Amino acid sequence: MLTGKHKRNTAGFYDFKVLLFLPGMSPSGIRARLGLRHGVLEFNGPGVWITVLADQVSLRPGGFDGRQWVLSWHTETGPASALLKGEADMRLMRSMASPGLAAQIEQALKIVHRRKRRFQWWIGALSVAVLLPLMAVGLFWLNSERIAGWAAGEISVHDERRLGRMLFARIEPGLKLIEGGPALRMVRELGGRLTQGSAYDYRWYLADSPEVDAYALPGGHVVVFTGLLRLAHSAEEVAGVLAHEVQHVELRHTLKNLIHDQGWRAVLSVALGDMGGSVWADMAHRLGTLEYGRDQEREADLKALESLRRAGIAPHGLVDFFEKLARMEGMGVALLASHPASAERMRNLRAAIAAQGGYPAQALAYDWHAIQRSLRD
Ligand SMILES: [Zn+2]
Repeated sequence: MLTGKHKRNTAGFYDFKVLLFLPGMSPSGIRARLGLRHGVLEFNGPGVWITVLADQVSLRPGGFDGRQWVLSWHTETGPASALLKGEADMRLMRSMASPGLAAQIEQALKIVHRRKRRFQWWIGALSVAVLLPLMAVGLFWLNSERIAGWAAGEISVHDERRLGRMLFARIEPGLKLIEGGPALRMVRELGGRLTQGSAYDYRWYLADSPEVDAYALPGGHVVVFTGLLRLAHSAEEVAGVLAHEVQHVELRHTLKNLIHDQGWRAVLSVALGDMGGSVWADMAHRLGTLEYGRDQEREADLKALESLRRAGIAPHGLVDFFEKLARMEGMGVALLASHPASAERMRNLRAAIAAQGGYPAQALAYDWHAIQRSLRD
């Protein structure tokens, strides 16, 4: 059934809308209607009525996507043409045309279909070329933590130590390091007890600063701020914090987070075995603002409890100190920002300590008052 714009006209044949170009007439074409009957094309428009024998007409597809059709023929005064739109029109015309014109239409339709397929192929190829990198980027973001974890695993302990030395060399000028005294001695002793048998070569530093903070660099440089020692109530609390910090190194959390933070550049550097690039130097600026994830905190806490137990140090200092920090929420405590002490984390810690049962632990024999006094000097 033919419906819509293809209506039978009064003479009893179908009309097609065309744009007609005739010699000496409007160069932008004349809107006309084309009728087809008994091998004759009949064009009808404002001030125009012409007939052309179908056998004298040639047909070719036109337009960018082959959706236009050009009928052309010669008149006494020059070449003439008519533009049609739409494949439906062509099929209809084919069904009504004389054998000669129908063959031309058939040929033109084939050309158009070929073009269309080629066009679709290019669109497809283009999509792949554009979409694949986009998908890769998307996958990277979705799996970025896993990729950072992989990259961290690819770095040897040797390279990690080298990276740690480089990072420390960059931050050291900004630290007011305390060279001796009972507080530094305590940090070094506790640190040594908590890292026995480690693959890393730990170095312990005490920096004079009111900040309640401590951080461990990949490879084992640990910086403790005097602000943290001032807030602590016992050596056990300090030991708890150190045990926790050390585990972020042992578990390569800091390295993983730094790589994650630097994204593709860092992953590429690892993949290419380039450990001297600028990406590693840039990391130093980010050390102070790293935040450990919930899973990393839980893992570091559990491993910290194990190391406290091995060192024969009571475990309660760890949870006591972080609970104290949690009560200071909103006061800009640096250690709290990087190691969130959520209620869930504290609950889990207490439960893990209870599950551990008791073990022999002697009270840490430090002159706490002397240490505090030395910090005030
Ligand atoms: Zn932590």
